[in-house]
Amino acid sequence: MNSAEIISLFDQYVMPTYGRLPLAFVRGHGSRVWDAEGKEYLDFGGGIAVNVLGHAALTKVLAEASAQLVHVSNLYYNIPQGRLAEKLVKLVGVPGKVFFCNSGGEANEALYKLARKWGNGQGAAGAAPSNSAGGGLGSSQAASGRYEIITFLGSFHGRTMAGISATGQEKVKHGFEPLLEGFRHVPFNDLDAVAKAIGPKTAAILLEPIQGESGIKPATPEFLRGLRKLCDERGLLLMYDEVQCGIGRTGEFCGFRAIAPDAVPDAMSWAKGLAGGFPMGAIWARQPYQDVLGPGTHATTFGGTPLASSVALAVLETIERDGLMANAKTMGDYFMSRLRQLPGIKEVRGVGCMIGMELPVEAKPFILKLAQNGLIGVIAGTHVVRFLPALNVTRAEVDEAVEKVKASL
Ligand SMILES: *Cc1c(COP(=O)(O)O)cnc(C)c1O
Repeated sequence: MNSAEIISLFDQYVMPTYGRLPLAFVRGHGSRVWDAEGKEYLDFGGGIAVNVLGHAALTKVLAEASAQLVHVSNLYYNIPQGRLAEKLVKLVGVPGKVFFCNSGGEANEALYKLARKWGNGQGAAGAAPSNSAGGGLGSSQAASGRYEIITFLGSFHGRTMAGISATGQEKVKHGFEPLLEGFRHVPFNDLDAVAKAIGPKTAAILLEPIQGESGIKPATPEFLRGLRKLCDERGLLLMYDEVQCGIGRTGEFCGFRAIAPDAVPDAMSWAKGLAGGFPMGAIWARQPYQDVLGPGTHATTFGGTPLASSVALAVLETIERDGLMANAKTMGDYFMSRLRQLPGIKEVRGVGCMIGMELPVEAKPFILKLAQNGLIGVIAGTHVVRFLPALNVTRAEVDEAVEKVKASL
């Protein structure tokens, strides 16, 4: 099939929920993809932060794991899910437990439910409000009747009903009213606004340590530390949506650690890069919140199948074995420094391989121009081109990308 035929199939049979670019890919290898006409592209969109090892990197584990055991249901135990949970808890480096699901929106749903269950005073015994400082006001308060979650303007938390209610962007909500109640939006990086928004019904604060969809906007270290302190003082859960910034992309396994390593959350969500392109999401919660979602309170048929868990384990082991977090940091810093030397760009910002290039004009036509020149970038907000390359991207590939950006400006 050629690209026109593929696009025509979509026009007839696929719901028109995306403003797609007229590109139809048929094959990929490493950081490269090919379209139906055989044209080669350097893929610096990474499937929106998903393909952390690049393309065609999962073949061996998919074949081996699928020959062993694909799915058994979470009514039983399986080896890969247990080992993956252990690996994730060790990578976070803080004692806790993990729940598995299939996507970022679904992972965040688990966070909202955890916060509400806890805020309604129905959590596991001993799950008193967080107190990492070891003796703040929060420690003696028992949570009850609290369900509100503070989120931020410009945030993105997924397309489920709770996700669009949590998201701090009007465009995702329009036409879907009434939204789920219990979310309050405040300006990002504004600690005073957060403090003012906290009320008797507030249970948690949820944020992306680096806002992705709205244009690669990192939280400041003072903001993350301030939120941690506020949550300790007021007895609230601090929750990070690391669906996009997690899994090593920033140079640290956890995105927040690249900003403020001491601002450890109480719970955190992952998806996108977790299984390198195989669909998987998860949340982690630390002691004593790790048992708040007890038997019968939450579930998903496909979460943590032996197949998905085996793939994620292989991805995480490769990231560690090949030093890909350090590579993401080095290559991201190098790419940003090269982009900053080019004329005609308003601002280049980001952390590691999570990079935003803000233009003085709308980004969409420029992204098409980039594609014509053989480079894939992803739009963020209206004026930002996002680059989310594989964590194993090479210096030669970055140099090539810089030349393509230069040719497109
Ligand atoms: C992509 C994304 C989501 C939604 O993930 P899906 O897998 O599309 O449901 C949620 N939060 C953030 C920060 C994201 O980048």
